[in-house]
Amino acid sequence: MGENKLCIGISACLLGEKVRYDGDHARDRYVTDVLGKFADFVPICPETECGLGIPREPIQLRGNTRSPRVIVISTGKDVTDKLKIWTQQKISNLQTENLSAFIFKSKSPSCGLSVDVFGTDGKPKPKKSPGIFAREFMNRLPDVPVEEERAFYDERSRERFISRIFTHQRWLSFKSKKPITRSDLEQFHNNHELLIMAHSEVARKKLTKLITQEPAVPPCELLHTYEVHLFKALTLLPTVKKHTRTLKYALKRLAKILEPAEKREILNIIENFSNGLLPIIMPLSVLRYLASKYQEPMLLKQIYLWPDPVELKLKYSI
Ligand code: SF4
Repeated sequence: MGENKLCIGISACLLGEKVRYDGDHARDRYVTDVLGKFADFVPICPETECGLGIPREPIQLRGNTRSPRVIVISTGKDVTDKLKIWTQQKISNLQTENLSAFIFKSKSPSCGLSVDVFGTDGKPKPKKSPGIFAREFMNRLPDVPVEEERAFYDERSRERFISRIFTHQRWLSFKSKKPITRSDLEQFHNNHELLIMAHSEVARKKLTKLITQEPAVPPCELLHTYEVHLFKALTLLPTVKKHTRTLKYALKRLAKILEPAEKREILNIIENFSNGLLPIIMPLSVLRYLASKYQEPMLLKQIYLWPDPVELKLKYSI
């Protein structure tokens, strides 16, 4: 794996592997052609790898949503235990892989995040549950960002997921450098402050308080608590209002050094963004330029201003 590449677990059919029940694949072009440039994938097909074969009879979830059974539709055969035993072992192995994220195939009784659950008689019920593999993955690896491929059809959901993936990757890299001091964590937090704020101002304040509180909590406990709150915050969708507040907060750092004309211009651009007339990329680009021009140290380190690879063409959707 390249040193800076993401390591993403993925439902194998999304990569074009012919592992679906009918022997076909479900290749997702965004995943393979765009995200693939920045990631090494760990493909997994629970149904094939647990021994259900290719092709195989379609299965569905039946029963109660907390612990549905996996039933072969045509025969009524229960294959829950087969799938669950394999899943337990596989996820134990994945816990050592340091995955940046996992992308699941939607609607699959094994891989989907929100799948139809039928009655015990096979009749439709308006109930949903994660697939068997996806549920166990989220239970045992709760901090790994997960998403279904269909989220990529919506630009804002896609951006949020990509941002979480890259932040998780930076977090893993940060945690791998030992020993980690409180001041290291403060540095990490400071660099992500605007990014967190764009997702949740409440979370930004909470995390800032956490790392500066006295008496200090033990480092391991502090890291774990910080991680949980950070990635919970990043699941929240940034909005125009949240971005506007974040941009204005960033601008305060430059308030005393900008030329009057520069200040007017950036305020005007933020206002236009706030009114839906410009995409977020515009005020971000101008702030980036001004931060570089005046070498403003806090802004120069902000992940929010220098986010994910430009080739992913993010920050146009809002
Ligand atoms: S959705 Fe999951 S179980 Fe189904 S074919 Fe794709 S990888 Fe295999």
